[in-house]
Amino acid sequence: MITSLLKSVLPPALKRPTKKLYLGFRALFYIGNSFFCPYCKKSYRKMLSGGFDLPVIKTMQIIGAGRRKNMVCPGCNSTDRDRLMYFFLEKNKLLKNNISLLHIAPEPSLGTFLKSNVNGLYISGAKYHEGVYYHDSMKIIDIEALTFESNSFDMVICNHVLEHVADDHQAMAEIYRVLKSGGAAILQVPWSPLLETTYEDPSIIDQIGREKHFGQFDHVRLYGMDYRKRLENVGFHVSTFSVQDLLETTIEKKNFALNPKEIIFVGRKQTTR
Ligand SMILES: [Zn+2]
Repeated sequence: MITSLLKSVLPPALKRPTKKLYLGFRALFYIGNSFFCPYCKKSYRKMLSGGFDLPVIKTMQIIGAGRRKNMVCPGCNSTDRDRLMYFFLEKNKLLKNNISLLHIAPEPSLGTFLKSNVNGLYISGAKYHEGVYYHDSMKIIDIEALTFESNSFDMVICNHVLEHVADDHQAMAEIYRVLKSGGAAILQVPWSPLLETTYEDPSIIDQIGREKHFGQFDHVRLYGMDYRKRLENVGFHVSTFSVQDLLETTIEKKNFALNPKEIIFVGRKQTTR
């Protein structure tokens, strides 16, 4: 409440230092030993609750959505999704080599981290929306019609984007096209394990209808158990990794406050022989 009021009245030049100061004080208040944030490199007694609840999120047991405890880092605002990506990338040493990475609709914490830690080419971009601030380093891109050459990237990260896109088949095909042979894309979406088939209805265009049916005012579908198949339909070879599996096979003792229900979807473009 107070932060949104400040946002609306502060001149742009003061927004960044004010936010930094606010996060600094908040971090001090929550400092402790229960959870560790890999982005701001601090430990906290608790993370903040976040996300929002809608009936469909509960009734459909949607994974990757809803209100969660220990979701937001008090020191840098990273979310459990962001920390999961850090955990996955680090655990699998995916940034170790010289790579080219396309990050679509970059999450702030992860984007800042990747910008300084990708040992190669890092490009981030998002679709143009009126009134949204785009950092100078970000490109305006249309996921349904990417302007990059085919076989350009070793890795694409595109999390929680496809559920917003009208023609997700086309978007998936575009990601597949710009991946190099042997490359991989991380493609997280909210999905329901209770739905055998993805639920979409293009006649539902109002925000209330979308909240009711898909779990968010700007989602155009709710993915089901066939999400993997939809990725396979454009050529991806899909592997999934549960948070539980990742935690069981790691020697990392720090608790990153991850969402234990998340499943990571990785689509690979097979090497051509
Ligand atoms: Zn943090």
